[in-house]
Amino acid sequence: MIKKKLEDYKRNTAMFTPVEFSIGARGNRCLNVNGYVYTKKHSHNFKIYWRCAFYRKLNCKALVHSEGDYVVKSCGIHNHPRMSPYQFSNCD
Ligand SMILES: [Zn+2]
Repeated sequence: MIKKKLEDYKRNTAMFTPVEFSIGARGNRCLNVNGYVYTKKHSHNFKIYWRCAFYRKLNCKALVHSEGDYVVKSCGIHNHPRMSPYQFSNCD
């Protein structure tokens, strides 16, 4: 099962976006992808489901799914610009 996962990774890595994790002020882990920040919604098996850090504030509906260090799926379009680097520390 895990070996198969690794093979899938190798085959698909080219289309996956590498991600960066950071820890917010309140200790929550968040995800940085291409200048957007996501907070964890829930996880299931290998996947972690994240939603935009501006979900509450701006009702932004963008979501991503990550597996390992890669984003495997993203849905929705952000209704705001990318964040500047200092805002990454305020992800929660
Ligand atoms: Zn957003």
